[in-house]
Amino acid sequence: MYEVGRRGIDTLEITGAKLLIFMFQVSGLTYSSLGDREGRQPDLQFFFNGLYAECSRTGAIGEPMKRCQPNEPRNISISGIALLPRSVGYLTLNSSDPLEPPLFYPNYFDHPDDMQMLKDSAQHIRKIVETDLPIGAPNSNVEEHPPKVLKSKWGIRSDPAYTSRCLRAGPEWSDEYVACMARQYTDPQNHQCGTAALGLVVDPRLRVYNVKGVRVMDASVVPIPPTGNPQAAIMMVAEKSVALLKEDWASLSQT
Ligand SMILES: Cc1cc2nc3c(=O)[nH]c(=O)nc-3n(C[C@H](O)[C@H](O)[C@H](O)COP(=O)(O)OP(=O)(O)OC[C@H]3O[C@@H](n4cnc5c(N)ncnc54)[C@H](O)[C@@H]3O)c2cc1C
Repeated sequence: MYEVGRRGIDTLEITGAKLLIFMFQVSGLTYSSLGDREGRQPDLQFFFNGLYAECSRTGAIGEPMKRCQPNEPRNISISGIALLPRSVGYLTLNSSDPLEPPLFYPNYFDHPDDMQMLKDSAQHIRKIVETDLPIGAPNSNVEEHPPKVLKSKWGIRSDPAYTSRCLRAGPEWSDEYVACMARQYTDPQNHQCGTAALGLVVDPRLRVYNVKGVRVMDASVVPIPPTGNPQAAIMMVAEKSVALLKEDWASLSQT
């Protein structure tokens, strides 16, 4: 979470079409040091959420805009996401009542690669907030170029309401600091899948193995997370499921 000077936000609104979009909500994909570049499977995603209508007075998410003073800084956030996590969680029944929600155990950071991905994502974020080159310029190097753009022009700085606890773990951007931030602010991307995985629980026609008359047609049949937001893939599962159903009914009516 970062604070940006209020005046900076005005400037962005007036002059910086590209940056304005960047500050509102943009998502992008790239590779961590573990990413499969040859297979073109980015394993990091970033969400840039800007202008939440929050002041930075308390740093509280959702602090209403109308309580902000005109020149008060605002919060924006930049989140790094391990898009293809290797930790595997599970869910189980909570009760014999089918209307009771199940128990969900995500097992975050069970696999050490996930933390490595997030440490790498932090270095990408650092480049963005500390670079002195225009956003998108090639070869920006934080060590060689003292920060100017977001920092000195718009006064971006990490928000102590969010970071102070982890600054006790290590200096900003250190591995210890980033690991603390990742654990402190762990958030799901809501891309859960694989709980009734194709090949394990359902057959290629999405029928549950050894159970007659039951098919699964949702995110749970997708065996591993897709490289990106999953809704399109899940809609394809739904379309395919309907086609399979129609095929099966058509062959039944012929017999
Ligand atoms: C906050 C949030 C933001 C997201 N943003 C994105 C995004 O930007 N892009 C993207 O690609 N994905 C996004 N996702 C992920 C995406 O929405 C899910 O992966 C996807 O909706 C899963 O589809 P599904 O059909 O498996 O389940 P769902 O879409 O959850 O559908 C399950 C349906 O079953 C119904 N249901 C539940 N229990 C019962 C019951 N007992 N009887 C009858 N009906 C029942 C529910 O009401 C629901 O309509 C987001 C998820 C969340 C939570």
